[in-house]
Amino acid sequence: MTDPHTTTTPPPPGRGGSPTGATVLGYPRQGPGRRLKRAVEGHWRGRTSAEELLAVGAELRRDRWQEMASAGLTEVPVGDFSYYDHVLDTTLLLGATPARFTDLPAGDDPAGRLARQFALARGTDSQPPLEMTKWFDTNYHYLVPELGPGTRFALHAEDLLRQVGEARELGLAARPVVLGPVSYLSLAKADEPGSDFDPLTLLDRLVPVYAELLTALAGAGAEWVQVDEPVLVLDQPAGLLERVREVWTALAATPSRPRLLVATYFGALGEAAPVLAGLPVEGLAVDLSAAPGSGTRAANLAALRAAGHDLAGKRLLAGVVDGRNVWRTDLAAALDVLTELGGLVGSLDVSASCSLLHVPLDLAAETSLDPGVARCLAFARQKLAEVALLADGLRRGREAVAGAVADDAAARSALRTSPLTVRPDVRERVAAVGAADTRRRGTAEERRRSQQQRLGLPLLPTTTIGSFPQTEEVRRARAGLRRGELDPAGYQAAMRAEVERVVALQEELGLDVLVHGEPERNDMVQYFAEQLDGFLTTEEGWVQSYGSRYVRPPVVVGDVSRPAPMTVEWSRYAQQLTSRPVKGMLTGPVTMLAWSFGRDDLTPAETATQVALALREEVQDLERAGIAVIQVDEPALRETLPLRRAAREGYLDWAVRAFLLTTAGVDAGTQVHTHMCYAEFGEVLEAIIALDADVISLEAARSRMEVVADLREARYPHAVGPGVWDIHSPRVPTVADVVASLELALAGGVPAERLWVNPDCGLKTRGYAEVEPALRVLVEAAGVVRERL
Ligand code: GLN
Ligand code: ZN
Repeated sequence: MTDPHTTTTPPPPGRGGSPTGATVLGYPRQGPGRRLKRAVEGHWRGRTSAEELLAVGAELRRDRWQEMASAGLTEVPVGDFSYYDHVLDTTLLLGATPARFTDLPAGDDPAGRLARQFALARGTDSQPPLEMTKWFDTNYHYLVPELGPGTRFALHAEDLLRQVGEARELGLAARPVVLGPVSYLSLAKADEPGSDFDPLTLLDRLVPVYAELLTALAGAGAEWVQVDEPVLVLDQPAGLLERVREVWTALAATPSRPRLLVATYFGALGEAAPVLAGLPVEGLAVDLSAAPGSGTRAANLAALRAAGHDLAGKRLLAGVVDGRNVWRTDLAAALDVLTELGGLVGSLDVSASCSLLHVPLDLAAETSLDPGVARCLAFARQKLAEVALLADGLRRGREAVAGAVADDAAARSALRTSPLTVRPDVRERVAAVGAADTRRRGTAEERRRSQQQRLGLPLLPTTTIGSFPQTEEVRRARAGLRRGELDPAGYQAAMRAEVERVVALQEELGLDVLVHGEPERNDMVQYFAEQLDGFLTTEEGWVQSYGSRYVRPPVVVGDVSRPAPMTVEWSRYAQQLTSRPVKGMLTGPVTMLAWSFGRDDLTPAETATQVALALREEVQDLERAGIAVIQVDEPALRETLPLRRAAREGYLDWAVRAFLLTTAGVDAGTQVHTHMCYAEFGEVLEAIIALDADVISLEAARSRMEVVADLREARYPHAVGPGVWDIHSPRVPTVADVVASLELALAGGVPAERLWVNPDCGLKTRGYAEVEPALRVLVEAAGVVRERL
């Protein structure tokens, strides 16, 4: 370990002088068996003390550093570990706790800081928690900094400095990781609701705190510091790149600082590339992943080539291993890229395209994968080995790793030609899709008339979004089936009994369009992934969603098709219990893909067509089974919108087409519903109209039906059920509340013939204690408003 540099401009590593390095930008925090989740939740329940939790954290950090070092990494990230969220950690590091939290726990020791962190994440007696939102286009959620003109920053680097010490004590080259000032402010929001305060105006106030941090890190022995500026891959507001240049010029002039590595990830740099390359910093990290259809690798390679001598003295972390997907790296292609880059830069590190936080921890935890598929997968731990292997290949020559490269190529080509992945029947069906397959029969008006004739619904029909509470008995039956304590017949009987209960309850409540309640579904994506050919599900493939919550995304491994009906028996069973219509319930193609890992040999658009064709068969089978109303949920449609504006139109085209392919095969008299878990449609409104669904239900209760004005402005031609019950809150609305919401919708321009009455979202996470009275209120309120029409 060398001493930190103490000059204003540390000498750059000479071209060809340093051996190729191997490192990653970040690593999963969870630990084996999701140890961190158990410790954190145990702490919240009062079973694990703060000291015990801190000890678990220290042990997990140590283990992952050692794991990285023994895999062959030459430098390890420090500070990417978090008990909850790294953006929240940054807020605490910068002393930017919002003023509204006046009752935060005190104590200037690690336990006190931990308590404050959890208070901001989970709320206090007097304050709701920090808002949570999606981290770029991943399925990770961060806690949004709340900043205002009154925000004052102050450095609190104790925890980070201690971690640098922990890693150095292990004899490792430790590279602290912090979220950069431009990104931090760009990801923040104004602390006054409705204010037009722009957090980026705080840059001048923030930069000196970062400078102070750099000096402190140098003092702690850090030779390099990784400062993440992922916002550089977004479309930039005017003038921002100029500010980036100023900020980094100022930071580079900090006396006594480590060498600076500006890390970017999640896509192509575009117009930010020349700015980034020209910054007076010693190192850069660039996304060079090769996801099909993304164009990231080609675009960033071209940008690096164009940067010319700006790069000659710099260190480059080349993110050739995809940190967003679970497939092993095409080693031969990666070596080509790395070899070229080696000639352009001062020194090269092999790396992953982003933190490995976004992939599961360890493939070895999977016990029942097809061996041919497993051979082609790489989770975080396997990706470390790939990074190290590629670095080794650059150091010792390609021949030295020829065996591994050949093995990789063989595994890949075996999978590509396996009947598991390429299905001629699926390819033929895809090729045969024509324009007529994505067009509904009949105009919206004709459909409305024939559906009305068939269904005979009252004005303001009442319905729900699909799921009913997943009770203890339902969960127990599912666990029993998994453990083999309950046989499939016993499980089916238990689920049927639940469907009977749910249908009887809805009849008793007087709802107009019923649902079966989805008791048989563990998760709206996994349930279908388990039944579709071409998807695989994992046992332990957990990925952090937020805080202590993890999800297990399925993996699309091959051509998708439907070997057998998936939901038809449940819907048919529910329908024969009642004379009222029972709504069939499917997850749409865009959401299926958004919450899964995609293939590395087909674009998302191509896979979406396959998924849509499989779902189309299900829709048609439901129709044949006498189901007159079919809902296709697409809660991920908006969140999947590409980060760059230029890519959005192409995305919306395939997304709409996939939805239409799923739904357009039915008769005019079959009513197609869709559901979205939000109401701020913004630029997807046109696409939502193009879905041509007869009825859309969406979240609206909290925003007081604001969506109604947008729909009117866009002349939304179909029926709409703006949610009248905020199911995210345990509060049961009153009849007056719901009547007021419905009247707002009517006054806002939704014609009575096109207004539906429903909750904001599914009821899966609520209890019957709220569901029963709330639905009673909905039905009663619909009656009250109907009377007045
Ligand atoms: N039909 C699903 C349910 O009710 C919809 C869930 C969702 O919108 N996320 O649970
Ligand atoms: Zn929803």
